[in-house]
Parts: sequence; structure tokens; C-alpha cells
Amino acid sequence: MCVIDKKVVTLVYGCQMSERDAQTLREISVREGYTSSEDPNTADLIIINTCCVRESAENKILGKIGELKKLKEKNPNLKIAITGCMVQQPGALERLRKRAPHVDIWTGTHNLHDFARQLKTAERSGKSAEVWPEAGGTTESVPLAEKGKLKANVNIMYGCDNYCTYCIVPYVRGRERSRPAEEILAEIEALAESGCREVTLLGQNVNSYGRDLASGPDFSALLREADKISGLLRVRFTTSHPKDLSDDLIDTLAGGRHLCHHIHLPVQAGSDRILRRMNRKYTREYYLNRVRAIRERLPGSSLSTDIIVGFPGETEEDFSQTLAVVRQVHYSQAFTFMFSRRSGTPAFALPDQVPLEVKKRRLQELMRVQNEESLKWRQNMLGKTWEVLVEGPSKSNPERLVGRTRGNEVVVFSGTRDLSGQLVSVKAEEANSWTLFGELA
Ligand code: SAH
Ligand code: SF4
Repeated sequence: MCVIDKKVVTLVYGCQMSERDAQTLREISVREGYTSSEDPNTADLIIINTCCVRESAENKILGKIGELKKLKEKNPNLKIAITGCMVQQPGALERLRKRAPHVDIWTGTHNLHDFARQLKTAERSGKSAEVWPEAGGTTESVPLAEKGKLKANVNIMYGCDNYCTYCIVPYVRGRERSRPAEEILAEIEALAESGCREVTLLGQNVNSYGRDLASGPDFSALLREADKISGLLRVRFTTSHPKDLSDDLIDTLAGGRHLCHHIHLPVQAGSDRILRRMNRKYTREYYLNRVRAIRERLPGSSLSTDIIVGFPGETEEDFSQTLAVVRQVHYSQAFTFMFSRRSGTPAFALPDQVPLEVKKRRLQELMRVQNEESLKWRQNMLGKTWEVLVEGPSKSNPERLVGRTRGNEVVVFSGTRDLSGQLVSVKAEEANSWTLFGELA
């Protein structure tokens, strides 16, 4: 019997949910007889799971799709699949198909779980393009067979109902849908049994978990359940919308065994006028109040954030209020973006779009201020001992180990590889804006 070893390569753009979706697609392909590979040159199937949250991501992806044309010319049997958010945008499929006729399979976010059928169609007859207009529930939770990974992402909900005026996510990921708690906890248990030590619970707004379900726990109660699962050493989550961050959640984290003291709490902007135009549904004062509550009840916890500069109508005064918030909160890390006009979102059509030059200058200034803050944050950690989950050899120096604190700070230190997957104590001795360096205590 002749067995042909077919290889699948997945490339991912965008957030952790996009990564999780790419794993699902890889898993489905493996069940269809492919082996997972990293080398596009010898692949039989290349899947690109896409992002469309900013134009820069789309441009990168379009460039990559263009590059794949050459591979396809060399190997006409190669199948190329483009999947996810970019394809799901209203009207995008026709535009993309014209632009990239060498692509074999187009799949939206709502029909990822049905990828096997499309793959078979394409293998039989060459092409398949399908984008379902609406989600068919939360059925895409294909369990993963990838065993023995130290860290894993677990979706707890899909979609988003918040409609921030700049954001395309609600249009490409649909309405908010929570997965039943039993399903989530069973997935985490299976991961823990297979050797996983850290899970990150994923949702666009995890704080509203469960509101759409008739019964079952809310997010804090779900965390308390996850915290009981044996074998796990760490439970993280992302993203928290500030408007829904409850005192109960903060107390749950304070009382947890393995719950991480790190909250990713995107502020987006520091001026009330801009926050209102963004439809974020909180004021700066409300946000700073939440921060105070976290600092009081969870001393030593880390906060990170997302910030957009150059939202339409943002003045120098508005921008200086964003800088003031950054200086006041002391984030350990911030993801900073220039506003990108997304077709179909309300902010696309707003007057007073900010010129690119101004956006670039504000981004530079913001990054400079945040880098100072990140450095100060880490310098304050020096001389103390921190609990670190060891991830393995450091990429930049394989002689040393890398791990993360409970607050999600990266720590590089000396030690033997057999410590991977264990909690150790590390004394922090040096710092830059991104990394702590230390020694085992
Ligand atoms: N659900 C998460 C964010 C998901 S998108 C939340 O509400 O916090 C990740 C980040 O991308 C956002 O926090 C925002 O800072 C940024 N972003 C989203 N749309 C954008 C746009 N049109 N231009 C620039 N940045 C954007
Ligand atoms: Fe986008 Fe706002 Fe939903 Fe986050 S909460 S995904 S920024 S609409």
C-alpha cells in the first residue's frame, strides 16, 4: 500500500482567538490525514488564519497570499486556504477571490468547524468558498489532540456585543455567545491531564461570561471552578472590559490558588470626550476607580492595556489625557495602536480624521512614556523573589531559562531544563522595559 505523507502548515495573524482557531483548523486537517509541519516549501496544504482589526494586518496578509502564488506555481497540488476574520467581513469574499484567484479554499469565522467538508470538496474538485452569514452557536469547539503543551488557550465565549465605534470584531465574530461551563471545565481538565500547566480563558469581554445562558456560573464562579482543577498551576484570562469588571472578580482573584494576578484592562483613551465617541461606556474616573480597587485588594498585581491614538477628533489635549492615565496607572505593559479606519464601522465615517503624521508622532510619544513606565515597573520588582512558571530555554539565550511571574512579566534566569513546567522562586536582579533577569532563589 502506498501511503502519501501530506503536510499541513498553519500561519496565524491576530489575537489569541485567531491562534486558537488556527489550532482547530490544524486539528481538523490532521484528522483528514495531514501531518502538522512548519515548512511551507514542502507543504500540501497551507492555511492562513487571518485578522482584519487594523489595515496593517490586512496588508501583511495580502502580501503573504501574493507570495504563496510562487509556491503554487512550483507545486500545483498545493492547496491554499484563507480563513477567519478577513474573509468574514461583509462583501470581502468576492473582492478577495478576484484579487487572489490562486487560493483554493475560503472560509469565514462562523464555519471554521466545518472545514473538513470544504477541504474534501477542494481535494475533489479544486475549489471551495463558503462564508456563513451567522454563527451556528458555539459548536466550533473542536477538542485538541496536541498533547503535552505547557500552555493552552481555552475559548469561554465567542463574539462581542459592545460595538466600540472603531472596531470590526462584532461584525466578523457575531453576537456574544458563552460556552456552557461544563464544556469549558471538561476541556481544561483534559488539558491538565495531558500535561498542560497554564490555561488562558479567552473572550472579547470575559466579564460578561454567562449572561446569555439560562443557568450556570458567571465569570467569577467559572474561575473559582477552574481553579479547583488538579494539575493546573496557573489560570489566566483575557480580555476584561473595564465597564464590567466587578468587585467579586477582584476578590475571587485575591482568594484564588492558581489565579493569576494580572488583568489586561484596555483603556483605549484617557479623555472622556474620546471615550464617549468610542462608545466605551465608561469615563476616565470610572476606569481609575476600578484601578484603585484592584490596587487595594490585589496588592502587587500587574495591569496591562490597549491604547489607540489618533481616533477621529482627538486633539492634543485629549491625547495628553491619555498620557496622564498611562503615567498614573503604572501599566506593566501596553499594546499601542494608531487608529485604523475599518469599513463598516461607525468611526470610519466620523469627521475630523487625524492626519497620519500626527498619529505617528502621538504613537512615538506614547511608546516612549510607556517604555519608561514598563522599566520603572520592573525596577520596582528588583531585589524581591517571584514565583515563576518555567517555560523552557530562553530563545535569545538557550543556556538560560525563561518563565513568567503570576503578573505575566517575562523572567530570564539560570537553571536546568528539567525545571520546565514547574513553579520556582526567582530573585529579580536586573531589568529592562520588557524582561527581568535573575537567579533561582
Ligand atoms: N475585546 C478587546 C479587544 C479586541 S481588539 C477589548 O475590548 O479590549 C484588540 C485591540 O485592537 C483593541 O483593544 C484596540 O486597542 C485595537 N483596535 C481595535 N480596532 C482598532 C482600530 N480600528 N484601529 C486601531 N486599533 C484598533
Ligand atoms: Fe471590539 Fe469593543 Fe468588542 Fe473589544 S469590546 S472586541 S474593542 S467592540
